[in-house]
Amino acid sequence: MDFINKRIKKLKAYAVPQVSEGEIKLDAQENPYPLPQEIRGKFSKILSKVELNRYPDPSYKRLKKLIGQYCGLSGDNILIGNGSDELILMLYLAAGGPGKTVSCPEPAFSMYRILSKITGTYYTAVKLDKDFKLPAGKILAIKPDIIFITYPNNPTGNCFEKDKIEKIISRSSALIVIDEAYYEFSGQTMMDYIKKYDNLVILRTFSKAFSLAGLRAGYIAGNKEIIKELRKVQLPYNVSIVNQELLEAVIKDRKVLLKTVKKLNAARDKLFKNLKKIKGVKPYPSRANYILIKLENIERVANSLKKNNIKVRHFESADLKNYLRVTVGTDKENRNFLEALKRAV
Ligand code: PMP
Repeated sequence: MDFINKRIKKLKAYAVPQVSEGEIKLDAQENPYPLPQEIRGKFSKILSKVELNRYPDPSYKRLKKLIGQYCGLSGDNILIGNGSDELILMLYLAAGGPGKTVSCPEPAFSMYRILSKITGTYYTAVKLDKDFKLPAGKILAIKPDIIFITYPNNPTGNCFEKDKIEKIISRSSALIVIDEAYYEFSGQTMMDYIKKYDNLVILRTFSKAFSLAGLRAGYIAGNKEIIKELRKVQLPYNVSIVNQELLEAVIKDRKVLLKTVKKLNAARDKLFKNLKKIKGVKPYPSRANYILIKLENIERVANSLKKNNIKVRHFESADLKNYLRVTVGTDKENRNFLEALKRAV
């Protein structure tokens, strides 16, 4: 099949193992709590009225305005996609591609690397410094065209120092992408810097704190000029009428939807404290809804978790061989995870 690009032939399609019955799913940083009944009722009413026979508003003006308000910006500062994954692809289409370089402090979210391969963008990983600190100087030295920084970082869970991030933004001519997928958990944001720097975009998602991973929705906030350019690589009608209508309700009712954030943050801190008490287990402090853990005996732990039907995230890279990342679940799920861990170490 010579018609397939060589760089695509080398890849493996993205795959996730199937969820089995009764499994405790702590691998994908999802919110363990389903949508509140009150929101489900609203969604049903909306869905009964949407005009599915018509194309949606391709510029989704009302929704952009609402998300803009949530970010303290205007609608012209916002671009919406089917999850932030689609938006990352759009960033690559607009600013990456053959002959371009992307740089990313690692360990990082795997999609930055995967989409660089798909789009033929040269990917340079820069190892985080000790204690997962941001190696700003090393990233700048590469002189990349795009820089991805996750804030708080996935999978390490920490927020890098703002002054180091600002150093990168102010000294680089690259497009700087600050991925704030876990913003509602951390309460930390670089959104204010958009008014100060025109090479910065913030990426966010509805998949985590908002309990809407199944909907597939995220957005980019940036200055109007960047958004105008990015819109050129957006497919027409990329935000379905269902997503547009439901997301409007989500933004209006965000206080109800985000009630679980406080509960999950408290559960995360409790889980962290309990993990610290276990010998051979080193949890890292996190500002997000997951915890990275270093283990002395990863194989025994992995077997015990598997036996107990508990799914966590393991890593292929040699640097993270002895680590796992656990998503904060319900209190019961967290207890089950702790028990299985204690039995194994
Ligand atoms: N960015 C980061 C840092 C993530 O961890 C994830 C998902 N795990 C995403 C983006 C993708 O989210 P979405 O569901 O919006 O595609």
